[in-house]
Amino acid sequence: MTATCRDAPILKERGQREVFCGLTGIIWLHRKIQDAFFLVVGSRTCAHLLQSAAGVMIFAEPRFATAILEEKDLAGLADAHAELDREVARLLARRPDIRLLFLVGSCPSEVIKLDLHRAAERLSGVHGPNVRVLNYSGSGIETTFTQGEDACLAAMVPALPQTEAAQFLLVGALPDVVEDQALDLLAQIGVAPVQVLPARRGTELPAIGPNTRFALAQPFLGDTQSALIRRGAQPISAPFPFGAEGTALWLHAVAAAFGIPPQRVEAVIAAPRARAQAAVARVAEVLRGRSVFFLPDSQLELPLARFLTRECGMTAVEIGTPHLHAQIMGPELDLIAAGPVISEGQDVDLQLDRVRAARPDLTICGLGLANPLESEGLTTKWAIELVFTPVHFFEQAADLAGLFARPIRRRALLAPHARAAE
Ligand code: SF4
Repeated sequence: MTATCRDAPILKERGQREVFCGLTGIIWLHRKIQDAFFLVVGSRTCAHLLQSAAGVMIFAEPRFATAILEEKDLAGLADAHAELDREVARLLARRPDIRLLFLVGSCPSEVIKLDLHRAAERLSGVHGPNVRVLNYSGSGIETTFTQGEDACLAAMVPALPQTEAAQFLLVGALPDVVEDQALDLLAQIGVAPVQVLPARRGTELPAIGPNTRFALAQPFLGDTQSALIRRGAQPISAPFPFGAEGTALWLHAVAAAFGIPPQRVEAVIAAPRARAQAAVARVAEVLRGRSVFFLPDSQLELPLARFLTRECGMTAVEIGTPHLHAQIMGPELDLIAAGPVISEGQDVDLQLDRVRAARPDLTICGLGLANPLESEGLTTKWAIELVFTPVHFFEQAADLAGLFARPIRRRALLAPHARAAE
């Protein structure tokens, strides 16, 4: 039996980190939950982050905004709760389409210990039942950008209605087209009924209970998983649906939890899996035999390293992840062959020294590190793109491989010009 990373020692680092904050999640969550509004209670920096990252909203009625804490709020000279109540009343009067309002905490609101949970309860009392008000934190203190979605979904769980029905819950915000593909595969396999968290409309919250079995579609939903378990729902442990292999194993695990025989799953997935394998193999030509180094950022690192090493022929040098949730990541660690360093947390200077020593063919990292590394002749991929792009399930498997192949191809094209310019 080949040794895997399941029992590999974990290099734990706690130093300076280079990641976006959880507010970033609003950019994909506001597209997903179509009648929700995200009101960040933060500073001008928070407003700038959202505006620059989500400038695409310029042609539509925006579904997020920042209630800016001024100096007098931060100094405790104003009643921030009274101002927030006024802002929310103004917003809801102008936008009757809003049915679910998230008050999103930030670094400044946490520093002044503004109790947004209390505010959400108070505002739900004032504006309910038409509008439900929930809160979560998108603060960048000690978190990474995908934790914004985790905090948002975890905040929704206590508000979900109760059911005793036996059902499957798909957990994680996927682009609608990808979610539709997943639902179609599940229906063909015979998994029913199926609910989704988050639902496309905040008014259609799925009911959950002790006979709900759920599987995460995103690996960064540890707090959501814990919240669902507290409500009695049962997790299904599986590798994540990235690539042909990950998708097949995820579907098999879900089907097994519902007593559906593997032969039935195979009959449904044989053709799309074969198509995905062939499409990935074509794209992976350029990846085969190359090395990859993951810096900790999106929390997708372990499933993606599994995909790149097992389906695209790459070698992982180091797989860094911001947090390693042993239970959620166990099935992934079982599949990754022993060899790469598995690291958790970050001390960015030490890690960059390791990147420079290894000179990998591809480095997956945050935006802030990509340009400096490119200027040193290293090829990089922005981790954040992996969250913004549809990459789950069979139909997207080749696109996922393509995201990694593109920077390598681009450098190969640029290299002769760079040499000529020297
Ligand atoms: S929440 Fe914190 S890290 Fe994020 S933009 Fe606001 S101040 Fe910056």
